[in-house]
Amino acid sequence: MADSQHTPAQRARVVLSIGGSDSSAGAGIQADIKAGAAFGVYVATAITAVTAQNSASVSGIYALTAQQLRAQIDAVMSSLPVDAIKLGMLANGELLQVVAEFIREACLPVVLDPVLGATSGSALTNGADIDTLYREHLMPHASLITPNLLEAARLLGCPPAKDYADMEQQAQALQQLGARAVLLKGGHLNTPLACDCLFIDRPQPFSAPRVDTPHTHGSGCTLATAIAAGLAQGLTLAQAVAAAKTYVQGAIQAGPRLNLVQDNGPLQHFYQYW
Ligand code: PLP
Repeated sequence: MADSQHTPAQRARVVLSIGGSDSSAGAGIQADIKAGAAFGVYVATAITAVTAQNSASVSGIYALTAQQLRAQIDAVMSSLPVDAIKLGMLANGELLQVVAEFIREACLPVVLDPVLGATSGSALTNGADIDTLYREHLMPHASLITPNLLEAARLLGCPPAKDYADMEQQAQALQQLGARAVLLKGGHLNTPLACDCLFIDRPQPFSAPRVDTPHTHGSGCTLATAIAAGLAQGLTLAQAVAAAKTYVQGAIQAGPRLNLVQDNGPLQHFYQYW
């Protein structure tokens, strides 16, 4: 086989996902690998914490050490041509600092999903001043942050947005805190259209008909990884967000076909295939 198949111009694009393992494989690193694979990129991983969880609850969180996380990042970066980075659950302040130091040096597109808690209610990133660490050490180095309404409110220290007009204001306020762009996800607003607000230099609505399903476990991880995959493939931020939204909408719609659990089940990441 001719070696030209592996020339740099033709190689697979690579996303490095840094986050937590979800034993039920609906969210976290497992969702990221599936979303990236469905999107046509190669996903390498650096795991911050192993969680024991299912769709109902998180029953254990076992964080790795700073040294163990740094060793994974170094191993990946020294051998794979990483094109974009996706950040998910960072577990605690010490691991967050390892990641902050890495992304400052890496000079790559970074999609930051500020994972603070799970839909099932558990805190996933713990520690004093975690919100401050996000604001001061991660957001200034992110190409995009993808908070939901509760995460945005925490990062801003204000009540959650109640309508789309509030969302526009909060997206802008978050961007002024240092992120290059913000995708504020409006999925928790009780409106017929699920409307997100992308703020790059002005607010831009991204709406889609709300899918009436209880099975959305891991949808935030999936969306952020799909955006990172688009950036790795050379799409603009707005193009990557649009492509990722379309993909996640399909994966949420097909989720019930898996028919695995009653509530908060996973998406069907491979809905285009089976
Ligand atoms: N578990 C891990 C390891 C995660 O990274 C996340 C979200 O990023 C979740 C759980 C939360 O999943 P959800 O809130 O979609 O149920």
